[in-house]
Amino acid sequence: PKASPARARGDESRLLGVRLTHPDRILFPEQGLTKRDLAQFYEAIQDWILPRLARRPLSLVRCPQGRTSECFFQKHPRVAIPASVPRIDIAEASGTSEYLYIESASDLVALVQAGALEIHPWGSRIEDVERPDNLVFDLDPAPGVAWQEILRVAGTLRERLASLGLGAFVRTTGGKGLHVVVPIVPSATWDDAKAFTKAVAQQHAQADPRRLTVNMAKSKREGRIFIDYLRNGRGATAVASYSVRAREDAPVCVPVRWDELNAALRSDRYTTENLKRRLAALRGDPWAGYEDAARPLETELLRAVGLV
Ligand code: ATP
Ligand code: MN
Ligand code: MN
Repeated sequence: PKASPARARGDESRLLGVRLTHPDRILFPEQGLTKRDLAQFYEAIQDWILPRLARRPLSLVRCPQGRTSECFFQKHPRVAIPASVPRIDIAEASGTSEYLYIESASDLVALVQAGALEIHPWGSRIEDVERPDNLVFDLDPAPGVAWQEILRVAGTLRERLASLGLGAFVRTTGGKGLHVVVPIVPSATWDDAKAFTKAVAQQHAQADPRRLTVNMAKSKREGRIFIDYLRNGRGATAVASYSVRAREDAPVCVPVRWDELNAALRSDRYTTENLKRRLAALRGDPWAGYEDAARPLETELLRAVGLV
């Protein structure tokens, strides 16, 4: 279908050729943000979100009645997802399963039509789902951990990765913590990616055991930052850069420059309301050089962290 401007027609409208039902349904009550508003948000930021999100298997957080009603984490497409959104079959333990991926702004609108409030891609692309092209260190602070601590740990993790020859990029999640993302050449397996990130996370935690842990147990996490490396297993996901979050005030996961990390930033600093102003004021991609920074996860690197 041809792209067309959003035009109301009773209880539905169209945006980028996608039919939006209940366009005036309020998805985020705090701002009165409607389904149409969210679809138009993604239309407006499409050039920022699409290049690094397109052609990756996706999971979704769907909240069809809005973020204060029932939400569920969904890995496989169901009838509610418009048929226009492309799918890929991926091998799983018992047979194959279907996953969604997107290629266009119309597909983003179609996800909104399905009530998707968060988009969570795999760290690999559909061309080769078995070879991740990025690693994610998900810094999860326990309640009460100071923001300055999170900033400091992100910075020292960046230094550790640099000493291994790896470039690192940082983003606010729209929640409580930060993600440190490392682009890699898609050559190693998921098992290697997970083993490598686990070893790096362990070394980092061992250097500062009072403040850091890689142990999932709640008791071990108390007062500490949990370095969640489990985003790097096959089938695991992390929220997409520029995805909205199904949390109060419609915060957005936002890539930032390292020199923007300061006390005023906060993980939920940017929302669907203020993000456009940030993007308009930027002089370039805060993650400039991301693709060029990718290195292969070679045996040498695995050896450097005590593996093989
Ligand atoms: P925060 O900064 O608040 O931690 P976050 O996005 O990192 O925000 P986490 O709870 O640490 O939130 O989750 C990390 C990732 O785990 C999510 O981005 C998501 O991709 C994945 N995830 C979250 N919930 C589920 C779930 N129910 N099932 C599977 N994976 C999930
Ligand atoms: Mn997290
Ligand atoms: Mn986590």
